[in-house]
Amino acid sequence: MTSRTGSAPRIDLHTHSTASDGTLTPAELVRAGAEAGLDVLAITDHDTTAGWAPAVRALPPGLLLVRGAELSCRWAGTQPATPLHLLAYLFDPEHPELVAELARVRASREERGERIVHLLRADGIDVSWPDILAGAAGGTVGRPHIAQALIRAGLVADTRAAFGPDWLGERYRLPKEDIDVFRAVRLVRAAGGVPVFAHPRATRRGRVVPDELIAELAAAGLAGLEADHEDHSPAERAHVRSLAAELDLLVTGSSDFHGTHKTVQLGAFGTGVEAYERIVAAGVTEVASG
Ligand code: AMP
Ligand code: FE
Ligand code: FE
Ligand code: ZN
Repeated sequence: MTSRTGSAPRIDLHTHSTASDGTLTPAELVRAGAEAGLDVLAITDHDTTAGWAPAVRALPPGLLLVRGAELSCRWAGTQPATPLHLLAYLFDPEHPELVAELARVRASREERGERIVHLLRADGIDVSWPDILAGAAGGTVGRPHIAQALIRAGLVADTRAAFGPDWLGERYRLPKEDIDVFRAVRLVRAAGGVPVFAHPRATRRGRVVPDELIAELAAAGLAGLEADHEDHSPAERAHVRSLAAELDLLVTGSSDFHGTHKTVQLGAFGTGVEAYERIVAAGVTEVASG
């Protein structure tokens, strides 16, 4: 493939819309992708495909859309389990078992969100669950929506501060019923999709999984690792690349854009054409073009 400008194509394979915890609607997201000069954009909302149809409808000419999702997973090898994120690309959005798992996780997110709000309120912090749900506007609810309530209440300055240890990062952090990561890899493959481990070495987000687990996941069907991500240090990026080479996994890079919930911009990190083409070749859903 060639880019619109004749230079290397710009491919951003991890972004969020208001279908989860981003701040641009799916239509605004694809328009912003075109304006940012991207050739390929993937929409990867947390645990939902609700943004796919509106993104396709609004797709500007010249932009290719990879339909995907970011699955909330956990590895049971530690106590408590280690949470992790699995990007899933170009899968069948109607695969019954996968649809059921995503619905279950979304329900668990709502239940957890409400419990976090109870904990906050028990400490005299005036945040309202109905307001937070309204803020999510029907999209997958996440801690960034609770962060918005803390910002509105003047308790923290921004989302980053809301994820500090005194708030949602530790003190008011509760687990949700994430999907076992081996089950998730198998389900994504069964649904014709391509599973890629999102920001696998992001130590600044908390505990990360050992390389041995990634090797086991590769044997179970994992296709790739996201290396270039703002939450990875240069050394972590290099480590992910060498692990991917060792395990014959493809390597991606992406912005993990969340609109104004984060500072990172669309296209801040990108994926090479070869990895992109491996994903397209392996996925059952077509890449959409505007
Ligand atoms: P949840 O999915 O509800 O557990 O919340 C996790 C989401 O919060 C991630 O997908 C990010 O969008 C966001 N997030 C996590 N850590 C941070 C942070 N330190 N600063 C800003 N946003 C964060
Ligand atoms: Fe997010
Ligand atoms: Fe993630
Ligand atoms: Zn993400």
